[in-house]
Amino acid sequence: MTETGGDPLADLRDEALALIRRTPVLAAFAPPPSDLQPVDIPPRSLPFMEHMRREPGAPAPDTKAFADAIMRAAPSAHWRQTYSEAEVGATFLSRYAWMELWGPSGHFHCEDARAYIAYWGAGLYYDWHRHEAEELYFVVSGSAEFPAEGADAARIHAGGAKQHGGDQPHAMTTLDEPILTLVLWRGPGLAGVPAMIGKMAGR
Ligand code: ZN
Repeated sequence: MTETGGDPLADLRDEALALIRRTPVLAAFAPPPSDLQPVDIPPRSLPFMEHMRREPGAPAPDTKAFADAIMRAAPSAHWRQTYSEAEVGATFLSRYAWMELWGPSGHFHCEDARAYIAYWGAGLYYDWHRHEAEELYFVVSGSAEFPAEGADAARIHAGGAKQHGGDQPHAMTTLDEPILTLVLWRGPGLAGVPAMIGKMAGR
């Protein structure tokens, strides 16, 4: 372990940039942004953090340093949730959250790329949803099943990736373990948010 600069969010940014540079599927989807400006966003803690600390999921050899950087930065991050209890239920809300590492409203400002860190505990079903931006899920630790309209549902493990096209309906199920992800967005609709479509999606 090398000495760090004492800013866990900056360390997390650097680990994310390094991960993208050495991981072809990530670099091909969106090259690492070079114009990241730090933004003063206060930390925001949510109940899921205790859950993530207890059950971070197993990383791959190449994602372990990034997973560790996420755990170190978690107390400094502004964690958010897109959905209400009416939409997803109390159990879901107690075991999931995301933070925007870089992007239009991220800890590091950038207009033309977006990177999130997102966590879901084991045994959760993230119902069908869609958004205009194209998306790449990269699994940092744990695993989940990723159904998407027009594609076979595949279980993706640490080190694996799943891409969604703009407005392609998709869902996610965690099974016997949680999932910790790096999520990249690109293209039109970058500043948008996902919309639940639930049972309207074809499956
Ligand atoms: Zn999505």
